[in-house]
Amino acid sequence: MIFKNKLSIDNIRKYIVGIDKKAVLRNGQKSRYIFFDNAASTPVLLPVLEKVNEFLGWYSSIHRGTGYKSIISTAAYEDSRKIIGDFLNLDMEKNTVIYVKNTTEAVNKLSYRLGLNKEDIAIVSLMEHHSNDLPWRSKCKTVHINLLKDGSLDIKDLENKLQSYNNKVKLVAITGCSNVTGYINDIHSIAALSHRYGARIFVDAAQLAPHRNINMKGYNGDDYIDFLAISAHKIYAPFGTGVLVGPKAVFQNGEPEYTGGGTVISVSEHNVFYTAPPEKEESGTPNVVGAIALATAINVIKEIGMDKIIEHEIKLTEYFLDKLSLIPQIEIYSNTNKALIPHMAGVISFNVKHISHSFLASLLAHEGGIGVRNGCFCAHPYVHRLLNLSPRDISRIQQDLIFGKLKDIPGLVRVSFGMYNTIEEINIFIDVLKYIVENID
Ligand code: PLP
Repeated sequence: MIFKNKLSIDNIRKYIVGIDKKAVLRNGQKSRYIFFDNAASTPVLLPVLEKVNEFLGWYSSIHRGTGYKSIISTAAYEDSRKIIGDFLNLDMEKNTVIYVKNTTEAVNKLSYRLGLNKEDIAIVSLMEHHSNDLPWRSKCKTVHINLLKDGSLDIKDLENKLQSYNNKVKLVAITGCSNVTGYINDIHSIAALSHRYGARIFVDAAQLAPHRNINMKGYNGDDYIDFLAISAHKIYAPFGTGVLVGPKAVFQNGEPEYTGGGTVISVSEHNVFYTAPPEKEESGTPNVVGAIALATAINVIKEIGMDKIIEHEIKLTEYFLDKLSLIPQIEIYSNTNKALIPHMAGVISFNVKHISHSFLASLLAHEGGIGVRNGCFCAHPYVHRLLNLSPRDISRIQQDLIFGKLKDIPGLVRVSFGMYNTIEEINIFIDVLKYIVENID
């Protein structure tokens, strides 16, 4: 046991920073705060806070410092890399763990470092967060994998696209888990398929990492994952740190995206010799505190056990969907089929007929002290599809937005669970939601 007390799902709420904070309601009263917006950012774990506090005593610039504190800080920074690599079941001989700011920065860095040109093709899906779509659009030709009726990926369409664009496809960039419907993609089948057509795969694991085990090595030869990214703030550590992992060879040649201090072996007036990755890709003074925080959060998750987290979150999702579907005015935008819930993270988007998503989210906050998210969740194409908007509708909405004529875009309300949420919180949510539905016309 790494931490002072036994950490488990049963007692995890004791280890969530800020769990006892109250919300101030519209009537001025203070209420218990229920946080159902974990897909945006999870709260921080107490062992993370304690580790960071402890580390601040050793806080010192790393790598080139020779003092005792520098040595301790450097070791902590590099050990964190190993913890992260291990969590992702990464072959650390061949691959590198690069610290970045967040998943968005990771995708931008990768799209730059792959040296793509306008002839190259990246296949992404219509399910992607903008962070795993727009960086590819800006560097190469991007084609989108279609969706099935229930909003899941059309794998046949992926295969057709791999076939028809043949060896022009340099990369398939796919989310491990949707931040809108919670659908978990079969990244290993997609990896095997992509490799069969000579394309590499990048997995946006921002949403996957807090909910499922990740295995970069794969299970049977060609279903390994080439590149992957995660964000610390979605896995119980603070904002400001993310990780990009991928083969060292990709980052060995060429110039890093950002050059400067820390990226070089030697510089003369006319020459620059870059150092090896990961340092080459981490220009400037690194975020050591963030790296240690992320590694500590990962250690907590390992100690609790991902299997227990999965079991608990499936229970929450089943219960929530059961209760939610009993409210007649509700439209749910993901699968409610019980058999498919194990293939989902606890992320559920819905609407109430005749109440706008923004009004509903605000009522939940101000009447019930409940934090959810509403809108399009940085996944406009996906939400447009789920709402069945036609290209004409979308173009009209875009025009109206540009000319400031639209106050509220079409969107959804999203509830997303973390490992510390409870059935009791769901019951309160459902009561508040029913009250709103019954009292607003
Ligand atoms: N990918 C997915 C699936 C996400 O849900 C998010 C954030 O919500 C991101 C990428 C971007 O993460 P970040 O804001 O940490 O860069």
